[in-house]
Amino acid sequence: MSDPAAIRWVRTGRAPEPDFVLGDAHKLWLESTIRRWLDSCDLASCPDCGARCVSVNRHRAGAHKARRPGRPEQDSSSRPTSTS
Ligand SMILES: [Zn+2]
Repeated sequence: MSDPAAIRWVRTGRAPEPDFVLGDAHKLWLESTIRRWLDSCDLASCPDCGARCVSVNRHRAGAHKARRPGRPEQDSSSRPTSTS
């Protein structure tokens, strides 16, 4: 399992039941379990980076610094130039 978001969800109690429990601290999930669980959750996908998140608005505000509507593009220098 390599999804940091999933690890965060585990901590916040959003994760599915683990497939394996080693001792009482190590919980392991099969990737297929995570996939199925993600599909069963109605998580929205970020239109910018495709990340699955509980709150796209919150994700975008933090990760993408959503541009404010109605303002001219002045912050283009801080973004990688990929505009055609
Ligand atoms: Zn994103």
